[in-house]
Amino acid sequence: MERMSRIVVTDTIDAASAGAWRKAPRYSWREDVRNDESPSTRWWLTFPPRPTLQSKPRSGARFLREFVDLGRNRSPARMRSAILRYANRVGDLGESLTVITPDGSELRGEPFELWVECIEQVETLLRLLNALRALYDPAPAAARAALWDHLSVAPGAVTLMLSHAASFTLRGDDAARASAARDDDAALEWAVKHCVLLFLTRLLRERLSVAVSLDPPGLQTFPASLLAALRFEVLRQLVRGRGAAPQKQCPQCHEWFQPKTRAQVYCSIQHQQLFNYHKSDRKQRRRR
Ligand SMILES: [Zn+2]
Repeated sequence: MERMSRIVVTDTIDAASAGAWRKAPRYSWREDVRNDESPSTRWWLTFPPRPTLQSKPRSGARFLREFVDLGRNRSPARMRSAILRYANRVGDLGESLTVITPDGSELRGEPFELWVECIEQVETLLRLLNALRALYDPAPAAARAALWDHLSVAPGAVTLMLSHAASFTLRGDDAARASAARDDDAALEWAVKHCVLLFLTRLLRERLSVAVSLDPPGLQTFPASLLAALRFEVLRQLVRGRGAAPQKQCPQCHEWFQPKTRAQVYCSIQHQQLFNYHKSDRKQRRRR
């Protein structure tokens, strides 16, 4: 009988079975629709009211990179066609409003400006993530300079994000620690990480659902939209350094374990040896 392993909390978002977000069969940019709350918006990424297709949840650094790369298109028109291709593959942000077409029917729509804003936000977060990682490099002085560069020079986004985060998270000691951070790498890292983590946690509130799985055993978190998935992925990389690999079941003891590398098959060297030992045993028995 297989032993029941202990339940572990996993943060996978790539379990294909669970809810995650849905996407529409087809998206299109339209200029002729309107929404009274957002009258100045010209371009809307529109789709039918109820998205029906299951989008395959993604995770990992590449997932973030692909999204940020949409911003590399120089002209707004090029950027719109890149976003359209992306949306048809991955889905909308999950932040749509009802828009009215000239003949009076309703569609869902996301403003072009919102996409631009979200792409900038994720890019800013990635830069911060890289700057934080660079603090561990052998050249801390350069890294520190780079980090402060991103914090103070980056127009609007970072400053706004951090002050927003700070306004509801940093009080008393925290604020003092953050302001003392300029002189000290560890304190600086702490302050930035603290702000970004709380900022993202706040953004993600009510945008994640949790499911229990017995096979592999664990608690799994599922973002409710593409935007939530992107933010969650940044959070995950910030906390763990990199995304966690899915759990595997050891062929020898049948326990679920967290592999340290992609290639790891057995929970331990001992079980690899035991399994191979029994394998040759079985072969010999067959031969006799
Ligand atoms: Zn094992």
